[in-house]
Amino acid sequence: MLFTFKEKDVKTKEKVESISGENIDKCYQCGCCSSGCPAAGEMEYLPNQVMMYLQEGDIKPILGSRTIWICVSCYECASRCPQGIDISRIMEALRSIRLRENYDRLKIEEKVRLEDYPTIALVATMRKLTA
Ligand code: SF4
Ligand code: SF4
Repeated sequence: MLFTFKEKDVKTKEKVESISGENIDKCYQCGCCSSGCPAAGEMEYLPNQVMMYLQEGDIKPILGSRTIWICVSCYECASRCPQGIDISRIMEALRSIRLRENYDRLKIEEKVRLEDYPTIALVATMRKLTA
């Protein structure tokens, strides 16, 4: 039987570390971040799972997920992490990378119901238009 191994996306992992200033490999998967995250119920990947995928260099699923847009940058994860990792900065780095790919989570020029979206998604969209 043939096994295929995914190629690790080391470059993107390094880019996330460079933008966020966080060391992804310090995470030891205790789950404290996810247990306190107020937005966890709406995420496909919990914060500790985001860290796991990043450590594995398997970035595509995370970049394509709703999770990075659902994060409300409340810093609860950062305050709980025994390793001092600020996941909100990592989520912001992932959003930046996605926006630099010219991806539009929201088209602000279209009519949107503001109450349907987390504030951070609106801010990220507007930031892209003003850069
Ligand atoms: S900053 Fe984002 S990931 Fe961290 S606890 Fe808040 S919503 Fe969850
Ligand atoms: S709290 Fe910190 S060490 Fe624990 S899983 Fe989350 S990021 Fe990793």
